[in-house]
Parts: sequence; C-alpha cells; structure tokens
Amino acid sequence: MIDWNMEYDAVIVGAGPAGSHTARFAAEGGAKVVIIEKRQEVGSPVRCAEGAARRSLQEAEVIIDPKWISGEMDGAMIIAPNGNYLEVDEAKAGAEVGYVIERDLFDQALAKTAVQRGAELVLKCSATALIKDDTGKVCGVKVNHMGEEKEIRAKLVIGADGHESLIGRWAGLLPKLEKNDIISGLQYRMTNLDINHKFVQFYLTKEFAPGGYIWIFPKDETTANVGIGIVISEIKHKGHLKELLDGWIAANPKIAQGEIIDIIAGGIPVGHPVDATVMDGLMLVGDAGRQTDPITGGGIGNGCKAGRECGLTIAAAVKANDFSAKFLQMYETAWRDLLEERLYRNWMAKEACLGLDDDVFNKIITTMDEVGITEVNVFNLLVVIKDKHPELVEKFQDLI
Ligand SMILES: Cc1cc2nc3c(=O)[nH]c(=O)nc-3n(C[C@H](O)[C@H](O)[C@H](O)COP(=O)(O)OP(=O)(O)OC[C@H]3O[C@@H](n4cnc5c(N)ncnc54)[C@H](O)[C@@H]3O)c2cc1C
Repeated sequence: MIDWNMEYDAVIVGAGPAGSHTARFAAEGGAKVVIIEKRQEVGSPVRCAEGAARRSLQEAEVIIDPKWISGEMDGAMIIAPNGNYLEVDEAKAGAEVGYVIERDLFDQALAKTAVQRGAELVLKCSATALIKDDTGKVCGVKVNHMGEEKEIRAKLVIGADGHESLIGRWAGLLPKLEKNDIISGLQYRMTNLDINHKFVQFYLTKEFAPGGYIWIFPKDETTANVGIGIVISEIKHKGHLKELLDGWIAANPKIAQGEIIDIIAGGIPVGHPVDATVMDGLMLVGDAGRQTDPITGGGIGNGCKAGRECGLTIAAAVKANDFSAKFLQMYETAWRDLLEERLYRNWMAKEACLGLDDDVFNKIITTMDEVGITEVNVFNLLVVIKDKHPELVEKFQDLI
C-alpha cells in the first residue's frame, strides 16, 4: 500500500509495459518505487494490434508466460498492392515477428512482476502536475486519487504515460509532433474470417492506406485484429480512416465474410528520437520517450528494452544518491545505444516511403522476393533496392 507521507526513490507515472518493466528493474535493484495508473485496471481497455517481437521481449528480459500468448507466428507476409507478397519466416523477419499476445494479460503480468519484486501500484491515480522545489528541481507529482487531490514526493519522476505524455510536456522535453509523425489507428477484432492464422500480414496499398498500412494479426484460426494505421497528414475528413478500412475489407471477400466483435482506435507517435529524455530528477520511457518504431508503429518491445535500462538507472542513482541529469545520462546513453540508430533510420525511411506509388511498392516486394534477402529490415531492404532499382532509392541515399 502506498505511504502518502514517505518520499519514494521514484514515482513511475503509467502502468503500461514501459512503466511496469521500469518499476521491476528499479525494485529488483533495491529502489523504493511506486507506479501510479489512471485506469482502474492495468491493460484494459486494450488499444493495440497485439503483435510483439519475441526477440525484443527476450532481450528486454521479459518473463515469457504462455498465459499472455495468444498465438506464436511462423512469420510475416508483406503484401504488395498487386497481390504479390513476400513471405518471411521469423528468422528473416528481423525483430518484428513472434507473438500475437493478449495485451491486457501481458500488461497485467508485467505489473504483477513489478509488484512482486517490491514496487507499489496505485490504480485510479492520475498525475495532474509536477511538484518542484525552491530551486525548480522536480521532486514529485500532484495526483488525483479516486477524486482526492494528493501529492507523492519522490527523488525521481518517470514519465511512462504513453504517447500523449503529460509528464514529458510539463517537463518541456517533447516537441510538438508533425502531422507526418503521428499515426492514427483504427482496428476491428473480427471473427469468421478465412485467414492464414500462422502469419501476421501487412498490406501496402496507397488506395486504402496512404502513408501507412493495413494489418491482419491472427488471434486464432478464424479470428484476427484487422486494422489500419496512417499518418494523420493523410486523413482528409472525419470518418476517413473508417471509410478506408471498410473499403479495403469490402474488397477482400475472405475478410468481408467476417463479423466485427470489437473496435478500438488510438494514436501512435512515429517521429524521430527526441533530443533528451532526461533532466534533473526526471526520465521519460516508452511512447512517452518517443521510442516507438516509426515504420511499424510497434512500441511494446522498445518500451520494455528502454524500461529495463530506465529501471537499472533508477537503482544506480539511488545507490549513488545522485538524481542529476548528468547521472541519468546512464539511461540516455543505454537506450540510445540499443534503439536510436534504428529509430532514426526507420523514421527517415518512413518519410521517404510516404510519397511512393503503388507500382513502386510492387517493384520493391517483387525484388525482395526474387533476391531472397537474409533478414527483412529497412537497411537490407534499401541495399537490395539500390542494387536492382537505383532509381527508386535516390531519396534514400543518406540511409544506405
Ligand atoms: C491501434 C494501435 C495498434 C498498436 N499495435 C501495436 C502492436 O501490434 N505492437 C506493438 O509493439 N505496438 C503496438 N502499438 C503501440 C503500443 O501500444 C505502444 O507503443 C505501447 O503501448 C507503449 O507502451 P507504454 O508503456 O510506453 O505506454 P502505454 O501502453 O500507452 O501506457 C501508458 C499508461 O500510462 C497511463 N497514464 C497516462 N497518463 C497518465 C497520468 N496522467 N497519470 C497516471 N497514468 C497515466 C495510461 O492509462 C497507460 O496505462 C499500437 C498502438 C495502437 C494505438
């Protein structure tokens, strides 16, 4: 139970994967941490397509539990507008394939582990402002807990509060995102489908998903998350996203035969890495730290990897009794070593892809299939295209 009178080593705002995983590693390292979560139940309602990369989760030391695995995938299919597709098994799919998960159970498992390792968790508790001392240094958060205004004092405040992070905004660390740097997502859970349930599928189509893609992530033999994500600069009017997804479904009889059993919508930040995710007494992690992959929009694996580093840094800061921005560079350096190059390259590739026509996507998929690339990632993709169709990658020269 939270002790409202004590000063914690860290208050972690948000019990998503990034926040809970941070809390676990901080608590394991002996730090006194409390996670606050504005919702009444961790992980619910789900706003996710539920794809998670096995390799990323392993690298982040997430404890793999069959309870939250909905399906283990054999690989991924990337489908060109003309219907040709590239089929890649998990080994070739880089860090992008592995599990389709039960996201609510996954988030709950991470939170439970954090609590079992010594963290405290307070539900229905929203951060409403940062508290600063006389010198202007952050020293806690004001919260609303079940209708009551309270304060939590802490040496560190961790913003793990997702893509709309208030902590990041209050700290002044998050620049406003450009319209090309936010994906708007809409997803139906559908059943009675005729699908290949062992492959996640990504459809490239300028007609139905300009500046993004359509996905099918299978949940069982006949059920899948069928969704669309496109940059908001491509959204022309209210209801446009729904029109596009409905139009694509109508054009695909094996999907159109299904029934919708759940609908979700949400935003995903797909900007380039921010200049700083730490300042005196404060760190940002996960979507709040803009660590989501700009090409796939996936943030679970990256959030867990960065969360591990953030938690280890909290524990080290407590031992050193140093909560300065200088000391917290340990986290800044660690997560950038793991993620930054790929995030930046994928952001530039995303920018370049925004203008590509369907016939270019057709050529790219056909070329990759013919060449039989060893691992699908943005860099290998660009190298292959440069070799076969140099005219297609003039815009990408900096990346190759
Ligand atoms: C439609 C859609 C599909 C997606 N599909 C995938 C996918 O298939 N694979 C993938 O890897 N990623 C996917 N993502 C992205 C993924 O969901 C995020 O990257 C991931 O959730 C980030 O984790 P996080 O812990 O940083 O933030 P979140 O999971 O957003 O957690 C933040 C938590 O903070 C809480 N919070 C917010 N503000 C406050 C406050 N003031 N006080 C207290 N608590 C607060 C929230 O309630 C929430 O629980 C998808 C996103 C969307 C929208």
